[in-house]
Amino acid sequence: MATLKGKVAVVTGSTSGIGLGIARALGSAGADLMLNGFGDKAGIETLRKGLASEFKVRVGYDSADMSKPAEIRQLISHTVSELGSVDILVNNAGIQHVAPVDEFADDKWDAVIAINLSADFHAIKAALPHMKKRGWGRIINIASAHGLVASANKVAYVTAKHGVVGMTKVVALETAATAITCNAICPGWVLTPLVQKQIDDLAKRENLPPAEAKRRLLAEKQPSGDFVTTDQIGALALYLCSDAAAQIRGAALSIDGGWTAQ
Ligand code: NAD
Repeated sequence: MATLKGKVAVVTGSTSGIGLGIARALGSAGADLMLNGFGDKAGIETLRKGLASEFKVRVGYDSADMSKPAEIRQLISHTVSELGSVDILVNNAGIQHVAPVDEFADDKWDAVIAINLSADFHAIKAALPHMKKRGWGRIINIASAHGLVASANKVAYVTAKHGVVGMTKVVALETAATAITCNAICPGWVLTPLVQKQIDDLAKRENLPPAEAKRRLLAEKQPSGDFVTTDQIGALALYLCSDAAAQIRGAALSIDGGWTAQ
């Protein structure tokens, strides 16, 4: 597997869930890490120190709100000043909001589009010159099965994730003749706080025990009947950083238990 010693990775939204799984995978291969995301200050500091000592890498943290372009630019410049470069950018931070289109609150639309779509543009724009300077780079956008197919009641999320898949292709073409690649990962259901909230809402709405709500959520979309794990997504991200993946460009890679094969 890839050795990432000497490389610096920024993973947005890495205080939890998939982002943390990816940060762990890249750190285990020797990459220095810049963490980002919300959460309790002391908990994040424990996480930062824990990763640094477990993987013997440098680990920084930046509290940038990914809905704010100026803070995103600051996240990239902070990474360069603290860790020396940005070689790997993983655009992972994301939120969900569920409502029918004619009841979808305007501010929720704006927030989902800002964090799940526009943030990727601002981060790529800021990070790419640093990758070009070093002549190597990996950009990994965490899209979703919802970047390829739709579900009802998720208009902002599905729009944003389809946009991420399109943005991935453009950036891959613009970097095609370089050693910088850009790809999207499209996970199905992963049991993270983002999905737990949807399970809790379903259990409440239909008056179901938690285990039954989980089973129903999977049965509706994911033929394997199992959640994808954050470790599996971390391993795929690590593969995309390897030399073996140098000619994977502009791809939207499904890791979804068969969701989009249907
Ligand atoms: P999560 O809620 O566990 O983690 C989201 C992370 O993003 C957290 O670290 C949170 O602090 C951070 N974050 C949220 N808003 C932010 C903001 N404004 N600025 C900075 N950080 C912010 O969610 P997750 O399930 O791990 O989702 C991660 C990504 O994976 C998202 O883009 C999501 O759309 C995508 N995804 C998730 C699933 C799934 O089933 N869980 C499936 C497909 C795609």
